[in-house]
Amino acid sequence: MNVLVLNAGSSSLKFQVISTEPDRIAKDSDERLIRGEVERIGGEAIVTMQSHGGERQKTTAQLRDITAAIRHLVAANGQEDIEAVGHRIVHGGERFTESVLITPEAVKGIEDCIDLAPLHNPTNLRGIAAATEVFGRKIPQVAVFDTAFHSTLPEHAYLYAIPYHLYRRHGIRRYGFHGTSHRYVAHRYRQLRALAREQTNVITLHLGNGCSAAAIRGGRSVDTSMGMTPLEGLVMGSRSGDLDPTIVNVIATKEGLSIEQVETLLNTHSGLLGISGLTNDKRVLLEESAMHEDHRVRAAIDVFCYRVRKYIGAYLAAMGGADAVVFTGGIGENSPAIRQQICEGLEWAGLRLDRERNQALAGSEGAITADGSTLMGYVIPTDEELLIARDTVRIIRGVPHPS
Ligand code: AMP
Repeated sequence: MNVLVLNAGSSSLKFQVISTEPDRIAKDSDERLIRGEVERIGGEAIVTMQSHGGERQKTTAQLRDITAAIRHLVAANGQEDIEAVGHRIVHGGERFTESVLITPEAVKGIEDCIDLAPLHNPTNLRGIAAATEVFGRKIPQVAVFDTAFHSTLPEHAYLYAIPYHLYRRHGIRRYGFHGTSHRYVAHRYRQLRALAREQTNVITLHLGNGCSAAAIRGGRSVDTSMGMTPLEGLVMGSRSGDLDPTIVNVIATKEGLSIEQVETLLNTHSGLLGISGLTNDKRVLLEESAMHEDHRVRAAIDVFCYRVRKYIGAYLAAMGGADAVVFTGGIGENSPAIRQQICEGLEWAGLRLDRERNQALAGSEGAITADGSTLMGYVIPTDEELLIARDTVRIIRGVPHPS
């Protein structure tokens, strides 16, 4: 079955066409037919597309909305019959604990979660509406939620210590995000080590532009660093991660900003960008710090790595130990220097980095620790689109997700 995987943003659309079937999943013989992205939807859009084994092609086209963008990519790849659509949906609240077939009730459920993700769920819903417009109702669509993998968090990990009625009334609790990525790399780790799901005890670190950590015990997420929104936890490209909530009021008062403006500041002007004053791009920061001494650039890298190490320690305590730490995401997959700095001083926990193995791994899969480490380190490139395509075909074919 050819599954079109869509990740609809406010002015962008990431897409892939993946050919898969339940019996091909076990053999890892799914096929990626096309991948690409449409940016700056709403005007002169930039369309990047690459078919399997082909060259990457960049073109421009007048695309006024997501519907036009989907029509454009289908026209450009007319030979590929789309048989199903899988959507990445950011927030499933407490209602969606796994991927679901998109029905009018499911759409209503996603709408009910808009309060929890006012920026993301409406654009995801626009993606569903656009796909329905282009393909009609005959082509089944599936929703795969960023929050679903973390629906197994126990109450002691998801409750904030604020008046309980705020949780009941407004759903204020930890939900966690990047669930598809954490789930994929945990799955791949257990494939690599030939483990059953119940034997999978790992800390997964998704370090990209957004960053989050997850504590996975017995194959299930038992804690994660992002909270009610993706702002909490690790330091990110432009998001602050954890901070004292009083700071919101202090900034608002001292800088004469509204609460919304402070929220924007914490989401888009903080993190690596905020500390360095230079960029949210980790690669550029590393290049800068290699070329000359810049205190703020160094501080941004140090705060980032220290926060990750602190979470590893916390999750080791929360889980009663783990077998491995898995790095993924743009930074986690590609930066040996950052992995090394994070792992420094974790020898007490049994994690002994093998510098050569670590140095050799960029964008590929493997162990980065010395043989005999009791806490292994791995790099596993994430593949959220593949998991979305697999969930889509499983749901449509009525084959339940293997436990
Ligand atoms: P993602 O959101 O997963 O695409 O990751 C984006 C982040 O990964 C950006 O901060 C990039 O600068 C970072 N990144 C990609 N390649 C490298 C690299 N070789 N070294 C350091 N950071 C990298």
